[in-house]
Amino acid sequence: MTHVTRVLIVGGGPGGYEAALVAAQLGATVTIVDRDGVGGSAVLTDCVPSKTLIATADLMADVEESSELGMRFDGGGGAVDPRSAVTVDLKVVNDRVMTLARSQSDDIAGRLEREGVELVRGTGRLDGPQTVVARLAGGSERRYDADVVLLATGAHPRVLDTARPDGERILTWEQVYALDALPERLVVVGSGVTGAEFASAYHALGTEVVLVSSRDRVLPGEDADAAEVLEDVFTRRGMTVLSRSRAASVERAGDGVVVRLTDGREVTGSHCLLAVGSIPNTAELGLETAGVDTDEGGFIKLDRVSRTSARGVYAAGDCTGVLMLASVAAMQGRIAMWHALGDAVQPLNLKEVSSNVFTAPEIATVGWSQQAVDAGEIEARSLMLPLRGNPRAKMQGVRDGFVKLFCRPGTGIVVGGVVVAPRASELIHPVAIAVAQRMTVDQLAHAFTVYPSMTGSIGEAARRLHRAPEL
Ligand SMILES: Cc1cc2nc3c(=O)[nH]c(=O)nc-3n(C[C@H](O)[C@H](O)[C@H](O)COP(=O)(O)OP(=O)(O)OC[C@H]3O[C@@H](n4cnc5c(N)ncnc54)[C@H](O)[C@@H]3O)c2cc1C
Repeated sequence: MTHVTRVLIVGGGPGGYEAALVAAQLGATVTIVDRDGVGGSAVLTDCVPSKTLIATADLMADVEESSELGMRFDGGGGAVDPRSAVTVDLKVVNDRVMTLARSQSDDIAGRLEREGVELVRGTGRLDGPQTVVARLAGGSERRYDADVVLLATGAHPRVLDTARPDGERILTWEQVYALDALPERLVVVGSGVTGAEFASAYHALGTEVVLVSSRDRVLPGEDADAAEVLEDVFTRRGMTVLSRSRAASVERAGDGVVVRLTDGREVTGSHCLLAVGSIPNTAELGLETAGVDTDEGGFIKLDRVSRTSARGVYAAGDCTGVLMLASVAAMQGRIAMWHALGDAVQPLNLKEVSSNVFTAPEIATVGWSQQAVDAGEIEARSLMLPLRGNPRAKMQGVRDGFVKLFCRPGTGIVVGGVVVAPRASELIHPVAIAVAQRMTVDQLAHAFTVYPSMTGSIGEAARRLHRAPEL
């Protein structure tokens, strides 16, 4: 009789549930122990809710620009500028956000059940490398023995001792969906991806926004040219960006908040959103009982096929801190199962990951970055093409943004790219395919693009990177 592998997964976010689907497909017996709901933070509090909110913000940003394209709204007393005619009902927006998140979670639970995955609502911890103890809702405990364990417990928002969220005025990104009216003046602390996305969204929805950034510019981890475009757009649209400003504390003050900066300045607002990073959910996981090593930040150490330091124990997603993206969590989880269950597996390659900052405009990147090229980590030629020369961009009134490609100097193989544009998340895919398939700029240039289209600029950038053979 063949042995059926028992897989026990702690955490039902993208790292956990995508792994479960692979394990079930490969014939394992699979159990997921999850504390807060299948889909994880990605579906219930982070990725899905924020992108649903941003869908409304994107429409509002389009409305903002639409008067130039000739749009007028009938305000009863005659045609008026769309900017003053359209407002957002945040309660309706947030109800939609939460309904969509719950239904997405239910869809995933339904799919898992159809594939025969057992779902257990509870908090899991290791008791040695082959046992998971689940504390169930009523307080009782159940033990599960497993051949393979996957830890995919995610992360939670970091808060400062001097800035305690109260869920009313001082908020984490998980708490904003309880608001039933737009904040009048929102102070966003932190200008990484999450801070920039929320600042962009609330500003488009009609809130006055102050973005407190401890660095020289917003999005310190992203392409510097892209961040510069975004910061220009933010300030041109009326957002206040305080650079080189570190928040020391956030307190309630009457009906509002006061954010004190380390240099003594004070910023007041009606609400404050804290976006200062994430802490891995690894503290009470019993890692020491199994010999699973973590780094000084508490993130689980692992190799490129998701193995931890304990034999038979794998990890995936935000609890590993490798690259905090739902897509990467899902891939790490799948890789873990392909490896553990003996299927064909390729180690995780971060140089093929496409990612996006969902601001207006969006910033999408794939492969090697400008920072890496400048630091001499890879030799590459690059070309940046502003979108304002693109015919489709002109027709649509798009002025901000660019396409940038990186290729190897000799072979012309495409190794990375950046797109800054509305819906850049949809435009980066041809570049991602070129990177994954090791295509040359000439191969990319020879594929037809639609006329007129934004992707025409990707073809044009590739054409300009062509080198005559004798050069
Ligand atoms: C505001 C925001 C927006 C984002 N937007 C995007 C985006 O657009 N695209 C993108 O790719 N990524 C995005 N991310 C990142 C993405 O949400 C994470 O990378 C992703 O959620 C990681 O998945 P995961 O499976 O590791 O963990 P999670 O999604 O956090 O799921 C972990 C699950 O484990 C459960 N759990 C924790 N501890 C235990 C325990 N001891 N026992 C049982 N269960 C436990 C949790 O309750 C949770 O359900 C965003 C993040 C934030 C904060």
